[in-house]
Amino acid sequence: MPNKLLFLELRRIVAAEFFPNRCPFCYNVIGATQYYCDACYRHLPFVMGKSEPPPNISRIYACCRYMRRVRGAVYMLKFRGLIYPADAFALMMSRMLEGVNADMLIPVPSSRRSVRKRGFSTAEILAKRISIRLGIPMVCAVKADPDKEEQKTLSVKERYENAKRSFFLDSRYDVRGKRVLLIDDVSTTGSTLAAIAGLLREAGAADVSAAVFAKTPDYVRRSRDHKLYRIVRRDKGENNA
Ligand SMILES: [Zn+2]
Repeated sequence: MPNKLLFLELRRIVAAEFFPNRCPFCYNVIGATQYYCDACYRHLPFVMGKSEPPPNISRIYACCRYMRRVRGAVYMLKFRGLIYPADAFALMMSRMLEGVNADMLIPVPSSRRSVRKRGFSTAEILAKRISIRLGIPMVCAVKADPDKEEQKTLSVKERYENAKRSFFLDSRYDVRGKRVLLIDDVSTTGSTLAAIAGLLREAGAADVSAAVFAKTPDYVRRSRDHKLYRIVRRDKGENNA
């Protein structure tokens, strides 16, 4: 076990002496070495099989469908500012990603406004933990424009265009020839991942995949995805859409 991982786990066990660990899915107190309770784990809406990735992404890895108690746990992390769901999410994502071929993990940056509100970037917290577990370096090579609009209220087309304007690559990092794995907590329409992957590919990345803890169920996503594919193709000037 790498030293950093040992430290991460020990810190959690010691912290549990003062603030007991909680299951992110039901909020019940769990053991010092546990990350979630067994009953919740048995009922999580796991994603089975491969998912259709958003445009510009070669493969998307997702642990769960964004529904039921998964939504609640993500809410605790994103909007209540509680960190403990991130430990469970990162553990489950790391298990899913074991053996993945990637040279770097890049967290999807949060808009400054939301980071300010909650005090941390959720994707970065996940990527840091996954990086320690898998031994793949985390590189914060994508930055968010501080004036970025929140995506939540926009349509698919607006989301994609807003996302394209909202991110830029930090020139200190070279992604040429690299196999990149984007990390985020949730993907709903895939437009943010598609826009960032487009930037990375233009900058010469050899491959861009993505891993999220949760994504919207396929039956909702599929119809939106087709729309997103059309928008991306039109944007690239491909008229066979
Ligand atoms: Zn539970």
